[in-house]
Amino acid sequence: MNSFSYTRASDVASAVREVGTNHGAVFIAGGTNLIDLIKENVSRPARLVDITRLPLNRIEALDNGGLQLGALVTNADTAYNEQVERRYPLLSRAILAGASPQLRNMATNGGNLMQRTRCYYFYDLATPCNKREPGAGCSAIDGFNRIHAILGTSDQCIAVHPSDMCVALTALEAVVHVTGSGGDRAIPFAEFHRLPGDTPQIDTNLRSDEIITSIDLPPKGFADHYAYLKVRDRTSYAFALVSVAAALEMDGDTITETRLALGGVAHKPWRNRDAESMLNGIEATKDHFEAVGEAIVRGAVGFRHNTFKIELAKRAVVRALQHATRMGRRER
Ligand SMILES: Cc1cc2nc3c(=O)[nH]c(=O)nc-3n(C[C@H](O)[C@H](O)[C@H](O)COP(=O)(O)OP(=O)(O)OC[C@H]3O[C@@H](n4cnc5c(N)ncnc54)[C@H](O)[C@@H]3O)c2cc1C
Ligand code: SF4
Repeated sequence: MNSFSYTRASDVASAVREVGTNHGAVFIAGGTNLIDLIKENVSRPARLVDITRLPLNRIEALDNGGLQLGALVTNADTAYNEQVERRYPLLSRAILAGASPQLRNMATNGGNLMQRTRCYYFYDLATPCNKREPGAGCSAIDGFNRIHAILGTSDQCIAVHPSDMCVALTALEAVVHVTGSGGDRAIPFAEFHRLPGDTPQIDTNLRSDEIITSIDLPPKGFADHYAYLKVRDRTSYAFALVSVAAALEMDGDTITETRLALGGVAHKPWRNRDAESMLNGIEATKDHFEAVGEAIVRGAVGFRHNTFKIELAKRAVVRALQHATRMGRRER
C-alpha cells in the first residue's frame, strides 16, 4: 500500500504552489488515467492536488477568431460543444473516436494531453521499462511490439502516444497555454510532446510545476474538408493502431493547403511538412495521395511484430485524404 495525501486546490496559483513545493505531488483531474497508474503501482504520488474545481472549465471565443478550450472541460463537453462541432469537426470526430462515453464524461482536455503510453511493459512491474525506471532497459524492443512506434523511436523506448484528440490538435496547430512558478507560457502543439531520445521518462515539455490552463484553437478549422480515420482492432473502446487527421483547404478540385497528422506511429503525433506540401496546388487524385503516403512514412522502421504499420499508415493516409477531398461532393 502506498499512502498519499490529498488536497483540493481553490485557485490556479495555489495549485501550482502545491506541486511546486511538495515533492511527489501531482495534479489529478478526471482521474481516468492517473488512478489506473496508481492502482497498478506504476505511479506513486505522495500527494494528489485535485484541480477539478478550478475555473478552467469553459469554452470561449478568442479575440483573434479562434476558440479557447479550458483544460478542465471534459472531452465529452468539448466534442459536443456547438462551436467545436460546427467549426472544428475534425477535433470533435477525433475525441469521439476515443475511449467510451463514460470515460469521455470524466476525462478532461488537460488530462488527455498528459495521458501516458499504453505500452504493456510500462504497466507490468515485472518487466524492465526505461520510461518507468530510467536505465532499466526496454522490454518492447525485442518483445511483443505490435502496438509500438515505427517513427521517431530510440534505442531507449519505442512507445506511442495513445491520444486521438492530440492527433487532431496537431493538425489544427493548437497552442497549449500553461502557467507555473516561472509565469505563463504558450507552447505550440507540435512542441508539447517529445520523442523518447535518451529521456523516455519525460513525455512532454511541461515543467513539473506547470499546469495546463487552456488549449487554444486558431481561427482556421478546416470544416469543409477534413477526416479522422482511426484503424484499430475493435471498432470501439480500443486505442489506435494507426490514425490519421487530415485537414484540407480546396479550390474546386485543387488542394491549396494540407495538414496531416498521424497517431499510433510515434511517441508524439507525427507530422511531416515536406510530405504535406507535395499536395499543395495540385489536383486531388489517388496517385498523388499514394505519393504522399509513401513520403510521410519515409524513414519508418518496423520491429518484429509491427512492420505491418508502415503499409497500414500509407493506406490510411490515402483513405483519409479521399474522405476529406470528397466531402460535400457527389461521387464521380
Ligand atoms: C479504458 C480506457 C480506454 C481509453 N481509450 C482512449 C482512446 O481510445 N483514445 C484516447 O485518446 N484516450 C483514451 N483513453 C484515455 C483517456 O482519454 C485519458 O485517460 C483521459 O483523457 C485523461 O484525462 P483525465 O482528466 O482523466 O486525466 P487524469 O487521469 O486526472 O490525469 C492524467 C495526467 O494528466 C495530468 N494532468 C491532468 N490535468 C492537468 C492539467 N490541467 N495540467 C497539467 N497536468 C494535468 C495529471 O497529473 C496526470 O499525470 C482511454 C482511457 C481508458 C481508461
Ligand atoms: S517501449 Fe518505452 S514504455 Fe514500452 S517498455 Fe520500452 S521503454 Fe518502456
